[in-house]
Amino acid sequence: MSFDNLAKVLAVLVAEQGSYTYVDKLGYVPSKDLAVFYLKEALRDLHSIQQKEKFENEKARELVGKIDYERVEKELEDIAKTDERKERERRPLSSLLRLLPSQQNWEVVVVSDVFVSVRGRVMLNVEAMNMTESVGNYVKHRRVPVVLPDAKYTTYFVPAISGESIAHGFQEVLAEVGKKNGLKVCKLCEKGIFLKSTNENVFKESFSSDPPKDDFEFEKTVIENCIVEDVGGFLYAPRAGGNVKRTSNFYTGYMIPVRESIEGAVIEPQLHSRYALGTPFVEGGQGQMIYYVELSSAVYTFSFDLDTRYIGRTTFSYEKAGTEVGKRSERINAALEALKKFLIEFAFGAKKTRFLPVMEWDSLVVAVSDDVWTVPSPYTAGYIDNARKKKEKVNFNTKLFVYPEGGSFEEVVVEAIEEAKERAGK
Ligand SMILES: [Zn+2]
Repeated sequence: MSFDNLAKVLAVLVAEQGSYTYVDKLGYVPSKDLAVFYLKEALRDLHSIQQKEKFENEKARELVGKIDYERVEKELEDIAKTDERKERERRPLSSLLRLLPSQQNWEVVVVSDVFVSVRGRVMLNVEAMNMTESVGNYVKHRRVPVVLPDAKYTTYFVPAISGESIAHGFQEVLAEVGKKNGLKVCKLCEKGIFLKSTNENVFKESFSSDPPKDDFEFEKTVIENCIVEDVGGFLYAPRAGGNVKRTSNFYTGYMIPVRESIEGAVIEPQLHSRYALGTPFVEGGQGQMIYYVELSSAVYTFSFDLDTRYIGRTTFSYEKAGTEVGKRSERINAALEALKKFLIEFAFGAKKTRFLPVMEWDSLVVAVSDDVWTVPSPYTAGYIDNARKKKEKVNFNTKLFVYPEGGSFEEVVVEAIEEAKERAGK
């Protein structure tokens, strides 16, 4: 049995109606008769869209031309002929119906954007991943105020790792993956210096050319020539005035101790010494030195979202917003590849050459959706259940990948990213 043409019908409907009604119905259809009924209903909807001759989705219009209606009838007959008393026939039918939405043309034609939401809890012991100031020989760990809702609302100052630190790490990986995949990265971003087109001089240094005068051309040039600024955004504020701004396509924030860990999170200064006895450098106090580094241990929250909608598309000038720049699929692919590497290697944070934390993921949820769908906050222990409950009520073809129940950490991340890549048309 093959349902190629029916799959095309459904693909066009999803693209034009912007809803997954038929896909959801067919995924859990209890009988073949009902399946045929739903599919005929879908065909009627398709005919009425065709009569209006108004397609919003260009690719959907192309696909309609490729539907073979004789084959559609034949495929419907095949379903109707299935003998549901025979397991041999019933099972392949139901699995085929469930697979309809994942048939190739479906994904390539209909959905070319994807929203990936990552939330997790990670145990970090003896970390110094985000330090703030040093006072003399004392280096301080970052602290932030956090409210703990108990009988009353109490505010605690707890160790934290900033979103900027996470963003820096992700963009470093993105620069590397981008270059490896043959995409352009500007001179500064490729060195991990994320000044990102701050002003005229930075622009000239980054792209070896003068900044375009026109806002649209400016954004387009930056996107074309630097995948990091395409995905991570930039803010151009030249002295002469006239800003150009591009919002980041990924979102992240502070890692703070999870709710049950708030009162148990500690920061402790550790004494270290540089020892030079027996050398002439001891005299004058140059050789020997003692210093303190604040270390922290806690179970931290982790949050990261990636929205591919505007990757490879201009956004700033409202008249020309949405203009495609370069091959979007290659850019999205690089962003997803970078996210995979970034998560698996936990590629961010400072002081990792001597204060490499002892870390272990406690849990992780990656949600892959066709529209904005974020996983609830991992600050609360029940966040995985909350994610499932949310999915029951709000669902944009959302699929959850959960660690540990879905396999090893790496397996879960790789599967989620593969799903995202497939939806984005690779
Ligand atoms: Zn750049």
